[in-house]
Amino acid sequence: MLQQVSVGPRALEAYRGIAPNDVIDDLLRVSKDFKGARVVHVNATPYGGGVSELLRSAIPILNDLGLVAHWKTIVGDARFFEVTKKIHNGLQGASDDLTAADREAYLSTSRRNAELFEEDYDFVFLHDPQPAAILTMHGKRAARWIWRCHIDTSAPNPNVWSFLRGYMNEFDAAVFTMKKFVPSDFPMSNIDIVPPAIDPLSPKNMPLADDTARQALQWIGIELARPLITQVSRFDPWKDPMGVIEVYRMLRAEFPLLQLAMVGSMALDDPEGWDIYRQIVEKVRRDPDIHVFTNLVGVGNVEVNAFQRLSRVVIQKSIREGFGLVVSETMWKTTPVVAGSTGGIPLQMADGVGGMLVDSTEECASAVRSLLLDPNRGHDLARRGRERVRRHFLLPRLLLNELRLMKELASASGNRDASWRSSRDPVCGLLIRPDDLTATVEGQTFRFCSDSCRSEFLRQTQNNRIN
Ligand code: UDP
Repeated sequence: MLQQVSVGPRALEAYRGIAPNDVIDDLLRVSKDFKGARVVHVNATPYGGGVSELLRSAIPILNDLGLVAHWKTIVGDARFFEVTKKIHNGLQGASDDLTAADREAYLSTSRRNAELFEEDYDFVFLHDPQPAAILTMHGKRAARWIWRCHIDTSAPNPNVWSFLRGYMNEFDAAVFTMKKFVPSDFPMSNIDIVPPAIDPLSPKNMPLADDTARQALQWIGIELARPLITQVSRFDPWKDPMGVIEVYRMLRAEFPLLQLAMVGSMALDDPEGWDIYRQIVEKVRRDPDIHVFTNLVGVGNVEVNAFQRLSRVVIQKSIREGFGLVVSETMWKTTPVVAGSTGGIPLQMADGVGGMLVDSTEECASAVRSLLLDPNRGHDLARRGRERVRRHFLLPRLLLNELRLMKELASASGNRDASWRSSRDPVCGLLIRPDDLTATVEGQTFRFCSDSCRSEFLRQTQNNRIN
């Protein structure tokens, strides 16, 4: 049997008054059709990275709604995870091709995992490339199978993508974070767009008394009378940790008391993490004001919560990013973010809320500088960022998206019901809110999560008319 991850209980009602209540009510309504339905989410690791973060929070609520929801992780040795990280990097555009031996290592472990997949379910969600080939090897049986891709696959390495693509045909649906991530030759048409979300009640995001947060950081050597900037990320080249150090060094002369914390978790499926960690430690060896922490030395959820609250600015200097949960996590705590304008980050920070988007190390340093000099402006941006997270990026919305997709798949035709389109932003696919911005085109009214999406839509409609 695949390894089942234990999770605690959590009632959906606990989110009432925190997440939008209409989303909670919709979720209760839609879930009535799923009492007793068996659903499993399968990924590669029980800790480290955004997917495990999501599943740890989502599974308890699905169970509270009356489903029988399980979270299982695949098995794999170091060689397998080396290959899956190569696949992950290739899907994000890295040039390294898969060798015949890489493919065989991936397929033989996938066969093993397909054998270990013993129980029967009504719905199976396979997350990211690591478990993706299990469906082909296991066969569908009575279940509906969904591939949930969290990666920016808009410009994949053709060698890597053509290999993985061969295992996509049989899925009943695929879910991407953004429309633009869907590869143009994706082999099936039932595609849903669902951005991830954060859990406002998890230890990472729950309210934390200022005093407790301060104690947690002082305990590990942060001096809170001095300014602090932080990046919280797996140690991964796509998160540009070396760029973050450059940014800090560019600012150091002007802010001599500045401290930088690099908080990174090691994930079971990310062997590259250790190499990058060692390179960072080597690079900052002579700088006592750069602190490098990992989950392995006890910097866990509560400490991350404290860092995201007490930093003057949180950086997320990604070069490629599927979504970047850390951005919503930080905005939720009304701390300003300076982040790479890539992948799902501009969606979270649409219309400039939450902080500043940047495209280079110089821009990043300049944005951090301006927020350090003008904390009021940072606070104002961050406050609006928190409201955007509340409206669009909290867990109940994500679960509502998933249950609606399951409902479509369960219906005999598998077709989207007519209300599906009108309930979504036509540009980014987010579920729209009753008081969101509107635009009327040819007598039809559309709603948008942000002014950026509305402008993009009007631009596209204009272009279509001209063409
Ligand atoms: N994270 C953590 N400790 C760390 C570094 C990261 O708990 O030291 C968490 C972070 O708070 C977030 C997740 O790991 O919840 C990372 O998700 P994200 O979507 O930002 O990136 P991914 O790792 O999935 O690429």
